[in-house]
Amino acid sequence: MSTPDCLFCRIVAGEIPATVVRETPTTLAFRDIDPKAPVHVLIVPKEHYADVATLAAGDPALAGEVLATAAAVAEDEGLLGDGFRLMFNTGAYGGQEVFHVHAHLLGGAPLGPMLARSVA
Ligand code: AMP
Ligand code: ZN
Repeated sequence: MSTPDCLFCRIVAGEIPATVVRETPTTLAFRDIDPKAPVHVLIVPKEHYADVATLAAGDPALAGEVLATAAAVAEDEGLLGDGFRLMFNTGAYGGQEVFHVHAHLLGGAPLGPMLARSVA
């Protein structure tokens, strides 16, 4: 199921180029075009879900496959020893800009605090 106007559906379909680092039958991992860390990879399900909540409710097994692909990329990129951050920006407060669910895998250097400033 692909959504024609969705940027990441178009990357999955091969219509927009991306630097793919891992592909499984159900997921794709590619480098972020504007990396925020030495390693910054996005992991998406090939099927379109808008966000992580919709994915988890609609297909929990696929959500698990996204996590498994992220973990495999973390290993390939040599991140398991020093650690990494895996996050799903969701909705307006989460700062989500592309509404095809994607995990950000960040690593390769100390990433600092979880948020740039406290909003508590
Ligand atoms: P988010 O704000 O969580 O929706 O993240 C969207 C991410 O997609 C940002 O980190 C962008 O740099 C990244 N991005 C946007 N366009 C592309 C593209 N064509 N290829 C790879 N990454 C992209
Ligand atoms: Zn999509």
